[in-house]
Amino acid sequence: MDRIEVFTVPVNHRGDWLLVRLTTRDGLTGIGDASHGQDARTLAALRGFSLAVKGRELFRLEVLRQAAIRSQPFDRSVACAFSALEQCAWDLRGKALGLPVSELLGGRLRDSLRCYANINRAVVDRSPAGFAAVAEKAVAAGFDAIKLAPWDDMPREGSPEEVERVTALGMDRARAVRDVIGPRRDLLLDAHSHFPLEKGLALARRVEPLKLFWLEEVTPPDPPENLARINREAAMPTAGGESLFGVKGFLPYVTANCVNIAMPDIKYCGGAFELKKIAALCEGAGMRVAPHGPASPIGHVAAAQVCATLPNFLILEYAFGETTWRADLIEPAEELVNGRFTVAARPGWGFALNEHTLASRKRSVIEL
Ligand SMILES: [Mg+2]
Repeated sequence: MDRIEVFTVPVNHRGDWLLVRLTTRDGLTGIGDASHGQDARTLAALRGFSLAVKGRELFRLEVLRQAAIRSQPFDRSVACAFSALEQCAWDLRGKALGLPVSELLGGRLRDSLRCYANINRAVVDRSPAGFAAVAEKAVAAGFDAIKLAPWDDMPREGSPEEVERVTALGMDRARAVRDVIGPRRDLLLDAHSHFPLEKGLALARRVEPLKLFWLEEVTPPDPPENLARINREAAMPTAGGESLFGVKGFLPYVTANCVNIAMPDIKYCGGAFELKKIAALCEGAGMRVAPHGPASPIGHVAAAQVCATLPNFLILEYAFGETTWRADLIEPAEELVNGRFTVAARPGWGFALNEHTLASRKRSVIEL
């Protein structure tokens, strides 16, 4: 490993993308997504890991993984930094061997992936009509599954009246989106852990008429028993697990049967290999996997290579409408047709950073 660059790319009011690129002495590059941690802390963690990987070949990923896990506690930022470097290493490995990463992870089971449009990060006008307008755009772009997080303004310590007001407003937003997408498309709601157990159980009953594809993270993942109870009692499938790291992080979640659908994120869960391992854990428990990832196009193409190989894959997240230039941040340009993403058959992730777009969009580049 010769060179490690970290690019900060401003996106919108919700934050930046943090992208990592490794370059070998032979000029091969590997790219990874470190977005949506806490950027300053993720950078510090990347700096720490860079000492361990610089000047080394990165084929022995399990050696690096074990050394990394032993080296420090894995909070969100450390997990984000490690996962990004791990993604870079897989991209490099694929390019060095001339194979798509999916071929190195067991081979693909499918050539394209169903994706849902997460409209939440694109909605600025948070009125029901504002959500509906963005959902309508996603449908026009070809998506037949739409996700929103309608309770993001829930106060931490609100009065019962305030909590009810925000809960009802969220219901109005969700109903407005259901109305505009029609009964045949899929609706997914993310509660972002805003509800305690009893209120969460009531919420699950309240959203029943909306005929959800899934209800996501009603309560925090800890203690697992709360989500498990909601999962048992909810009439619709439940999903979650986006913030968990590694097979060890997922084991209690899977064992307690917290959700029907696990949502490891390649940006936090430990990277591509860890995502594959977590999916195997879920497969053993009869759980489907729908990787989380309102990510940059880098995180998306990386997750796609793993998803292509998973027997229990369900659907992949796609951050809809965040920027107008998203597709051109990579080459070839990112393309979804009717909400489906074709799994690249080119080496590595099958994509490179588009230098032209990067030059005009990045705020900074740091060389580690
Ligand atoms: Mg979520």
